[in-house]
Amino acid sequence: MKILVAVKRVIDHNVKVRVKADGSGVELANVKMAINPFDEIAVEEAVRLKESGKATEVIAVSVGDISYQETLRSAMAIGADRAILIQRPAELALEPLDIARLLQQIVDKEQADLILLGKQAIDDDCNQTGQMLSALLDYPQATFASQIKIDGGTLQVTREIDGGLETLEMPLPAVVTTDLRLNEPRYATLPNIMKAKKKPLDIIDIADMNFSPLGQVKTLKVSEPKKRVGQCTLLSSATALVSELQAKEVI
Ligand code: AMP
Repeated sequence: MKILVAVKRVIDHNVKVRVKADGSGVELANVKMAINPFDEIAVEEAVRLKESGKATEVIAVSVGDISYQETLRSAMAIGADRAILIQRPAELALEPLDIARLLQQIVDKEQADLILLGKQAIDDDCNQTGQMLSALLDYPQATFASQIKIDGGTLQVTREIDGGLETLEMPLPAVVTTDLRLNEPRYATLPNIMKAKKKPLDIIDIADMNFSPLGQVKTLKVSEPKKRVGQCTLLSSATALVSELQAKEVI
């Protein structure tokens, strides 16, 4: 069974994001980048499925500029066997439906049985690509997975929903998006980082694909969130919070 994992490169979650002075986007120059945390979880899950004998190959795939090679090497250091980069010019902005249309072509080419994506990219918070990909492929989907089980050609996915856990069953091939509690990704060891440098990374120029961007969504402006007004007070206990709220006649 082949697993394809979609991996996005985002600003490292420990970095404080700064907005460009002209409001055209966020500052990326000299900023530490990392694999999108939900995608790291997806890679970890795919590697665990391979280690348990349920999968035979794990392929990491990205749509991005040349810098994405580093991100794909990180995915291979966790344990992906090989990687594919659909290389786009750095200035070409793509929307989730574009990414899904490109991923669809790779899924078709690779004949992957399970396609794992993060539930959302922490930079745009779109939470759209997995759902759109499943619709384009006409594959069943399970979003926000907190547990994945595979038994032959059947997939069982547990999802955290309001008030409990929901378990879905579906046939493969399928699209699954990962939630935070699915697993805790391993640290890539130095030997595995070294090994990852030698794993195959195929680069496909976006111009060689049957693709033209939709250009339906335009970013008009990016701005800093409004500064908080009022003062924050750290309370020592829940009892203190209740007293405070009662004093203010909130409850
Ligand atoms: P989004 O819909 O933008 O929140 O992204 C959801 C998921 O789609 C991410 O967690 C990735 O798994 C995948 N994805 C989004 N953008 C890309 C990209 N440029 N390359 C590869 N995968 C992507």
